[in-house]
Amino acid sequence: MKATIDHIGIAVGDLNASLAFFKDALGLELDAPEDVPAQRVRAHFLQAGEAAIELVEPTADDSPIAKFIARRGAGIHHLALRVDDIVAALAELKTKGVRLIDETPRPGAHNSLVAFIHPASAHGVLVELKQVK
Ligand code: ZN
Repeated sequence: MKATIDHIGIAVGDLNASLAFFKDALGLELDAPEDVPAQRVRAHFLQAGEAAIELVEPTADDSPIAKFIARRGAGIHHLALRVDDIVAALAELKTKGVRLIDETPRPGAHNSLVAFIHPASAHGVLVELKQVK
């Protein structure tokens, strides 16, 4: 498996305050927002060289991101690694005993497929695998 860093996901409670820092203060370029209904979030990607920063805004009170913010506050939420074949990557990780949140991929932002690896198997980090279709 060849994995490259695609983006770092940041849970945001106050989008305008987050944009004031990441877009205005740092000067990163903001893509058009994209709703991801499967995860009840709106994703705001800012390109930062080869990788991106994803500001993840909850769109419903029962969104996993809303629960994360309620529990731990805004901040780094996940690390996303891009792979060529997400189904093969998940199968390989499973045979290696890695605990998966998603055994099968689901739709993500930017016409992608995503699946999450449990932080218990990734040293406390929620890891998103992403395959661009
Ligand atoms: Zn992400």
